[in-house]
Amino acid sequence: MADITVIGTGYVGLVVAIGLADFGNQVIGVDIDFDKIAMLNEGRSPIYEKGIEDYLQRNLESGRLSFTRDVANSIRDSKLVFLAVGTPSREDGSADISRLLDVVDTVADHADAYTVLVIKSTVPVGTNQALRARIASRRPDADIDVVSNPEFLREGRALEDFFHPDRTVIGTDSKRARDAMENTYRALKLISMPFVWCSPQTAELIKYASNAFLATKITFINQMANLADALGADIHQVAKTMGMDGRISPKFLHPGPGYGGSCLPKDTRAVLHTADTHGVDMSLIRTVIRANDEQQKRVITILRDMVGELKGLTVAVLGLSYKSETDDVRESASLTLVSALLDAGASVRAHDPKGSGNFRKIMPETRCFSGLYEAIEGADAVVLMTEWNEYRALNLGIAAKKMRGRVILDTRNLLDPVAVWDRGFIYRGFGRGKGS
Ligand code: NAD
Repeated sequence: MADITVIGTGYVGLVVAIGLADFGNQVIGVDIDFDKIAMLNEGRSPIYEKGIEDYLQRNLESGRLSFTRDVANSIRDSKLVFLAVGTPSREDGSADISRLLDVVDTVADHADAYTVLVIKSTVPVGTNQALRARIASRRPDADIDVVSNPEFLREGRALEDFFHPDRTVIGTDSKRARDAMENTYRALKLISMPFVWCSPQTAELIKYASNAFLATKITFINQMANLADALGADIHQVAKTMGMDGRISPKFLHPGPGYGGSCLPKDTRAVLHTADTHGVDMSLIRTVIRANDEQQKRVITILRDMVGELKGLTVAVLGLSYKSETDDVRESASLTLVSALLDAGASVRAHDPKGSGNFRKIMPETRCFSGLYEAIEGADAVVLMTEWNEYRALNLGIAAKKMRGRVILDTRNLLDPVAVWDRGFIYRGFGRGKGS
């Protein structure tokens, strides 16, 4: 018997289930993935997220949290059902909400009493309205309110974001649903976390607008870094000083190999698709998407510039996840790089503190090493792709001994160029000039 069911226990759903249980609710997490459910019930997390296993075990032991594959039974007693299943891109860029529709149908079929269906997944604007119509025609007697409650957590800081969100956005026109949501999130209200109450379509658009803006900001600084390279200017000083302007803010002004992950690429494509469908020209977002693709490809272009012919070379790729502190490799720039290296006839030795397993699920041919210095053994070039702290502390003396060549391409500007040059390496960062 649970107050709340969370369907989909991935990066979002698991954090939501744990967080809501930690607030004192009885929560059941549901997933179709048998292995995930088995692991979770044993107190092991299928994803890497700082601190998550402690929270998971604590809430399992308290009896407030459990996991099952049985959707029908779990929702029967739940007043709230959170949906956090994936909404990946379709070929045409639109969001594929088929998993969500399947679950909504199951909820409509099995909800016995008044139920608030909370959409956590990122869904196209208008989905909430469409779901209400779908439920009404499938089961006219069902007493279900659909609420939009988009998620803004950052992987790597997901629990921190759950307990201290910048804002909680809730889109609903129903007073009953609003009361239920207020009650569920009362712990956040008590510590004065900001709430935004709005219509469902506004909530849906807030999510896409936020991600489209973040993608734009990253792309902006990446292109400025490319210009800084050409001009011999220092992008870090540029970004830091820009960030001192309160209108700009210093966050998301770090150049890199192009954004990746499970959100920004697919959400920019989806919002563009929505705009196209409605005859609205979003040329800015179209350009951002194209510029990001080019930025990901730029890594291999610069590497070629540094080493010449890639065929026959051994390249160590350090960092496979799309950012540090997560094992998520979806659409990571390293996927683009490794596949281009292999296509070019280079041999790849890869390392990531947490993401190797997921990376190999997508590119099983990748040789991943558990030790950083093992990965760079015999490498002609090292490419730093993810900002893990472990890489910031790269021991250049050991690297010099282990590597065959002397080339380091640092797409995240983790190393001190002077220290690297002093060791006799050929070094390039992003937006730090062409180096020596
Ligand atoms: P995910 O792939 O990690 O998790 C989805 C889970 O849903 C998986 O465990 C899958 O097995 C399960 N699932 C699929 N179909 C199911 C079904 N019919 N019944 C039960 N479980 C089912 O995805 P995610 O990264 O957690 O993202 C979920 C949603 O949240 C997406 O819409 C995403 O855009 C959005 N979102 C993600 C993040 C993020 O940082 N990952 C942040 C904000 C919003």
